[in-house]
Amino acid sequence: MAAMLVRHLSFSWFVGVLRLTIKYLDLLVRWLQQPQIILLKEGTDTSQGKAQVVSNINACTAVADAVRTTLGPRGMDKLIHDEKGSTTISNDGATIMKLLDIVHPAAKILVDIAKSQDSEVGDGTTTVVLLAGEFLKEAKPFIEDGVHPQNLIRSYRTASFLAINKIKETAVSIEGKSLEEKKSLLAKCAATTLSSKLIGGEKEFFASMVVDAVLAIGNDDRLNLIGIKKVPGGNMRDSFLVNGVAFKKTFSYAGFEQQPKKFLNSKILLLNIELELKSEKENAEIRLSDPLQYQSIVDAEWNIIYDKLDKCVKSGAKIVLSRLAIGDLATQVLGSCEVFEERQVGNERFNIFNGCPSGQTATIVLRGGADQFIDEAERSLHDAIMIVRRALKNSTIVPGGGAIDMELSRYLRLHARTIAGKSQLFINSYAKALEVIPRQLCDNAGFDPTDVLNKLRQKHASGEGANFGVEINTGGIADSFANFVWEPAVVKINAINAATEAACLILSVDETVKNPKSESAQGEAAANAMAGRGGPAFRGRGGRGMRRR
Ligand code: ADP
Ligand code: MG
Repeated sequence: MAAMLVRHLSFSWFVGVLRLTIKYLDLLVRWLQQPQIILLKEGTDTSQGKAQVVSNINACTAVADAVRTTLGPRGMDKLIHDEKGSTTISNDGATIMKLLDIVHPAAKILVDIAKSQDSEVGDGTTTVVLLAGEFLKEAKPFIEDGVHPQNLIRSYRTASFLAINKIKETAVSIEGKSLEEKKSLLAKCAATTLSSKLIGGEKEFFASMVVDAVLAIGNDDRLNLIGIKKVPGGNMRDSFLVNGVAFKKTFSYAGFEQQPKKFLNSKILLLNIELELKSEKENAEIRLSDPLQYQSIVDAEWNIIYDKLDKCVKSGAKIVLSRLAIGDLATQVLGSCEVFEERQVGNERFNIFNGCPSGQTATIVLRGGADQFIDEAERSLHDAIMIVRRALKNSTIVPGGGAIDMELSRYLRLHARTIAGKSQLFINSYAKALEVIPRQLCDNAGFDPTDVLNKLRQKHASGEGANFGVEINTGGIADSFANFVWEPAVVKINAINAATEAACLILSVDETVKNPKSESAQGEAAANAMAGRGGPAFRGRGGRGMRRR
């Protein structure tokens, strides 16, 4: 009886379980039949939220760390060699950023602002990257503590607006000075730019050359009117400025050694026709019925060329330039188609047209040892040329060496005290970030940044030290204005503007979505992985500790 009961119970238990299972299976099938919302393609990688903002900040800080050591007159240079095997030695922020081949999507923004600073004002490319990196670094603890990025962005924008107004207010105008005075003022600005470069040792020499070149082209906006010719070899002091055009060319024709190599105040004839027999021979088809007529054809050809050459001679020109060929005959008849001056520069013969009154153009012939050296010298001169042009156009300058940055920092801190609420903290952080410029100048020169910065803060707070910046030779502080460490105001205005915009842009991104289809190159896949983790932003350098300080 008892055994029967047990069997009955276990049977009904079995039935119960079966029913339950069927019920759940039914539910599962129904659930599976429901339409699902598929938003993104399979394999799409998204990372979002606070962690994403922080990881982008980390990547940007790593980029800023990479160029940090190049700032200022005691900054170091970077040697970069690419997969093609070419080597570049540079101190220029924009050049380094371009060559670093950054793949991190957020960090790429820093490359863009360096490039835009380079094309807008020509100098301050390291500064802009450093500032953006520092703004973000200051923002990081707030983001981690749960501050909404938009609050930070608003305060940063206010701070940047205030800072730029302050620069405009304090900048000193060089308008209305005599040409000689202006020249020496502009040379000071150029020398400040050049002092951080490889050719910094000869900054006065090159600064006056750059000023002369810029003044030679007058008000013309086209930068390519200042040509730079690089001739390897020799000393950098062998470089010279041509108030006109210079190009590589040697003439060789019968008797050219005897011809003069130098002409004074001679006319120059510019042609676009051949001074050779060749063309008539090739451009015509002539049918002759009598072989005797042939001579007359040949004579006609000669007459054409003699006619052309007679006209050249009558014009009184001593120098003839033509886009097309000048044959041997032409060089004999004219007596001379030499140029103003044909001079040996290194291994090359150069035609030099100095002092062209109508054409406003200038050429700098650069000399120096290695190719990399001349290349970097050319980039440095480009910076200096841009600076002189900017200073000439906007004609307001600010003290360099971190002086203006310290002054802005002091001003913003004072302003922050008048604000109630969280914004006070954010503007204070912005002010602190501005100090990165003097701090890095000290760091790169081997001085104690804390010590120098304390002195600077104290001096600026006293109310009469607004022009005090880092004294790069002794490690103390000095009046940058009196020491002629000047920068055009537009360099700072543009740098602060661009750096703030970049920082705000990066802070406002809270999600990165990577479409799997666009993942063609291997490098981009790596970038994708890094974007999620906030790893180093460089291709093929994962794991390397970038932080230095
Ligand atoms: P960037 O690419 O930003 O122009 P640089 O390497 O050219 O970077 O460094 C520029 C910084 O160096 C500026 O802040 C400038 O004021 C400073 N600087 C230049 N010359 C001197 C100097 N003689 N003494 C102190 N600071 C200087
Ligand atoms: Mg510079």
